[in-house]
Amino acid sequence: METNRLKLFRELLQQEIAELLKEQMKTVSVMSSDNERVIDLNDQASVEVEKNYELRIRDRERRLIMKMKEAIQRIDNGTYGICDDCGNEISEKRLMARPVTTQCINCKTEQEKREKVRSIKNRRFLQYGYQESLKKDGGQPPHG
Ligand SMILES: [Zn+2]
Repeated sequence: METNRLKLFRELLQQEIAELLKEQMKTVSVMSSDNERVIDLNDQASVEVEKNYELRIRDRERRLIMKMKEAIQRIDNGTYGICDDCGNEISEKRLMARPVTTQCINCKTEQEKREKVRSIKNRRFLQYGYQESLKKDGGQPPHG
């Protein structure tokens, strides 16, 4: 990819990271202000649920930030925009939509197909197992 395009992606990723970090700071301040509120037990339960929800979001954001930092590293060492699987260039259109991606659209599609097949196989297995257990657990046909 051309140097000026890479620079653009680098800026894009850094902006996104800055945004996410800002969000994380907001979350932290919301969570610490909860502790100061006087609340009854019911409220406390819902505060816990909220906190868990916030923690999950923060976890996801943290992982996304990590991925973005890795993408910036790839820009710096010259491997950005190259598919991990086949070594071909990932289209810029795809990178614009998902700047942290490490797979070209072909490999991604292939991977998704494989995952789909796997989940269908799992489902078949479950169905088969279910029918087997029906036979065992008194699935006897009624006599005459
Ligand atoms: Zn590929």
